[in-house]
Amino acid sequence: MYKISDYPQIQNNFFLSGRNVGASKKLVGNVNLLTVFLKRFSTDWSDSMKDRYYACVREATELLMCEAKKYGVSLNIKCFHLETSVSPTSSPMDGFNLVKDYFREKTMEGIQKHYENRMGVDEIPIILAFNETGRSFTYKKNEKELYDTQEISVVFFEKNESSVLVKRTIAHELLHQFGAIDFYFPSEIKEIAKKYIGDSIMREGSAVTVDDLTAYLIGWKDTISANSYWFLKETMWMNATRFQNAKRIEWN
Ligand SMILES: [Zn+2]
Repeated sequence: MYKISDYPQIQNNFFLSGRNVGASKKLVGNVNLLTVFLKRFSTDWSDSMKDRYYACVREATELLMCEAKKYGVSLNIKCFHLETSVSPTSSPMDGFNLVKDYFREKTMEGIQKHYENRMGVDEIPIILAFNETGRSFTYKKNEKELYDTQEISVVFFEKNESSVLVKRTIAHELLHQFGAIDFYFPSEIKEIAKKYIGDSIMREGSAVTVDDLTAYLIGWKDTISANSYWFLKETMWMNATRFQNAKRIEWN
């Protein structure tokens, strides 16, 4: 087991920069996951679509609670939801701005503080759900990113979508809010991750396990394994600019 503070050679690794920052810091304790169903049209999110999506939300949270248990971490996620309409032309990429008027708060921290106090829980991550196809994503807080952003996930779901995939996507995006990072781009990172990370919900493919480094990033551990150490050691060349550029290419 490696304590990162003992190893200056990996301390500034870009992949560590989402740990313990932003509105959602640690995926630990009592967490209430808020799903906001966004309706462009009155036909969006019929009751049966909401039920189907919400079943995926519950399965995703159960999966994360099971994974936490493997690390000896106490995690109890409850789910709640609300719905609101947005303009038919609004862009999912607007993320937080789509709901800030609804919540009457200027920041994600503000919304979360409000609900955390009211409900007496540790964290309230928020996922915006659109009843359409699209590539799900999360704006996550990251001290080394080039721009400052409001932490929020956007998940797409429509009638032909596979529930198994959506369950994985919801868990994956939720982990991002707590500091997890993708291990599948650019290709150099993909290769190094293949060597050291093993099965992971943050890699490509269909694995749904929370790997050692992700567990560290989301606050489930205070140390890392030898494999995570070597992943960090071999990726010291990554920085915010390179990561943003790789992300842009990955998304186009
Ligand atoms: Zn991701």
